[in-house]
Order: sequence, then C-alpha cells, then structure tokens
Amino acid sequence: MPLERIEEIVRSGDLTLLGDSYAGHAASFLSNPYNDINIRPEIRKEIAVLFAVTHLSGDPRTYKMAKRVLEITGGNFDCLDLLEFCKSSRGKVALEMMSSYKKEEKIVELYFFTMQNRIIHEHNLADLLKFKYGKGVRITPIIDGSCCSACKRGKQTFTWNEIHKLPKVPRHWGCRCGIMAWT
Ligand SMILES: [Zn+2]
Repeated sequence: MPLERIEEIVRSGDLTLLGDSYAGHAASFLSNPYNDINIRPEIRKEIAVLFAVTHLSGDPRTYKMAKRVLEITGGNFDCLDLLEFCKSSRGKVALEMMSSYKKEEKIVELYFFTMQNRIIHEHNLADLLKFKYGKGVRITPIIDGSCCSACKRGKQTFTWNEIHKLPKVPRHWGCRCGIMAWT
C-alpha cells in the first residue's frame, strides 16, 4: 500500500481498511495519550498520525519522520524523561543505534522505536495469551553488549501461571527486548 493511501486511511479513522493486525497497531499509536511529551494537544495528535503511518509503511528511513516531527514541534521535542535518559551512558549507546545524523532527530527516533517495540509486544502478548501455546512466555534481550545489557539479568522465562510477574517490555528507553512463546 502506498504511503499516501496509508496516511489517508489513518486520518480517516476507518482503520479496518488496513487489515486486522495493522489496524490494532495503528489504533494503539493513535490512542496513546503522549502525556510524557510537553506539547499542545493538536500537535500530539499529529505526531500520533506520523508515528502510525511510519510504523505501517515499514519505511526504514525513520529520520524522515523525525524531521517532520521536529518541524511540527518547532525543533523542540520536549520529553523530559527521555532527555534525561539520553544524558546517561546507556542513553548514549541507544542514540548511536539511531539512523539520523542530528541528535535532535535521533531523540525522536528513540522515542518512536521504544513505543513501537511496546506496541508490537503488547499485541504479541495478547495473541500468545489467547492460545497459550507451549510452557509460557520468554523475554529475549539482545545479547550484543548494547543498551539492553542490563535486561539480560534476572528472570527471562515465565510460565502461564506466573504471567502476572512478567515485566513490561520495553523496560527502558531504547530497550530492544522482545516477548515470544516459551516452548
Ligand atoms: Zn531490553
């Protein structure tokens, strides 16, 4: 589906035209409150649309989206929690993985990727819970010495009986951990 068509559907609100799983993801992007970004509500809505369209299009050039977000926000993407994280050593590692050249754009990409990861895994988990295939659920941290190195510690597998103990993924900004069936 061409990008313009995806954007048209997302703006129309008739998400069923996207097909089941895509509609679910788009709805999650659109219904997120974005309360952690300090900007006017109309701008929040526009950012939600941009994020949803970028996710659905699968376009890896996310720096384009980041540029547009910064245009809308007047160059100021004011998410205090994320800005604090970016000052930490793990934050610096996370920023290195972003595709943009400019730091301001990387910060927007980092926000987007973290949120995208959360939405994908919320939907994954809902599907896994529907069928309860195998023993339970496994968290899969990226084992490459990246910003997810801290996620390697602790419990990684959860039976269906202890699923309430499953931590939320992503666990931090830039967390690339996933949730999958434990068979
Ligand atoms: Zn992680």
